Amino acid sequence: MQINDITKFEVTERFTRYVQVDTQSDPYSSSFPSTEKQKDLSRILVQELLDLGIEDAHLDEHGYVYATIPSNTEKDVPVICFCSHVDTSPDSSGTNVKPIIHQNYQGQDLVLPDDESVIIRYADHPDLANQIGNDIVTASGKTLLGADDKAGVAEIMDAARLLMQNPEIKHGTIKILFTPDEEIGRGVNHVDIQKLGAQYGYTMDGERAGTIEDETFSANALTVHIEGVSVHPGFAKGKMQSAVKIATDIISALPKDRLSPETTRAKEGFVHPNRISGTVEEATIDFIIRDHNTALLESHQQEVENAVKSVITNYPKATYRIQIQEQYRNMKEVLNQHPEIMEIGIEAIRRAGMEPERRSIRGGTDGSRLSFMGLPCPNVFAGGHAFHGKQEWVSRQDMEQAVKTILHIVALWEERA
Ligand SMILES: [Zn+2]
Repeated sequence: MQINDITKFEVTERFTRYVQVDTQSDPYSSSFPSTEKQKDLSRILVQELLDLGIEDAHLDEHGYVYATIPSNTEKDVPVICFCSHVDTSPDSSGTNVKPIIHQNYQGQDLVLPDDESVIIRYADHPDLANQIGNDIVTASGKTLLGADDKAGVAEIMDAARLLMQNPEIKHGTIKILFTPDEEIGRGVNHVDIQKLGAQYGYTMDGERAGTIEDETFSANALTVHIEGVSVHPGFAKGKMQSAVKIATDIISALPKDRLSPETTRAKEGFVHPNRISGTVEEATIDFIIRDHNTALLESHQQEVENAVKSVITNYPKATYRIQIQEQYRNMKEVLNQHPEIMEIGIEAIRRAGMEPERRSIRGGTDGSRLSFMGLPCPNVFAGGHAFHGKQEWVSRQDMEQAVKTILHIVALWEERA
């Protein structure tokens, strides 16, 4: 069986089943995984992997699914991992997702039946132009769809099925990893890289068909703590130095025409105050600091500190403290040391019949941290669009292309060994 001759896919059937399981993660939870319900899907995945004959499939105590497809070749092939996340974004409801398949799409606006004000307009979604004749899956108007990243999960599951059923496709040992809590930045906190035992990996968590991403932001979290001077407001003249007002002055002192998410694009970085809390006595501003160039994080942080310093001179009795925490790093620093990972990813996309497009992400993936934990891991398209909202969509044909891409990746690693 040639990979491109495969016509019987189950990826869409799997996908529409998986999205009906609510797996929303919760950034305000301190447990791991952040929500127990993520395991509802993970348990299904384990059972389906076992049913395929993948004997070591299991759910660990942290909510990760691990599984191994044994090698079927004499050659010494690097162990390759495929990874997706089971959770969906906290930004939009994932409860009672009702997937709808719009067969043979003809360029119309898609009105979602449970809330007719939610319309996926052809004009607003340029990628719909590539979908004429395809079958498009959407939610029904009240929830997100969950293509991010259940498309990736379904693609890996269907590729696993095809590999188990078609032993003539030669491959080395393949590891499967499904993570919880990616959407809240904790997806790899408890991954056991040693146990996983893979040399290289691919996350299936990208967007448009044909894309592969080897660059992410580098990311720090920066917190400014302000201690003001609290006095009874009736007796405050000349004494009170309100931390609330200091905090808002600091926000106002930040650059307005640059260095923010709303004024930058492509590889430009930013400083972004995303939460503020406090009282007269003390206040806290949480920033995220982002840039593709890790070295520039330092100067961005310095700009924040300069703003704080210039404001605080107006409040001589107030004090401040800045804390910085590393979040993740641009995976390109690691991937450049192993060029064959991207070469094979790109060639696999080409063999599946697409024009490969190499991109960078204004964000992170599980792969950006996995790469620095010893598992270099670019991000391959899963086919979803308009992530994290009610307009999310994915097509059957693009998910099938992703399954083929996975198969070509494993075949290419074997071929080149
Ligand atoms: Zn994702």
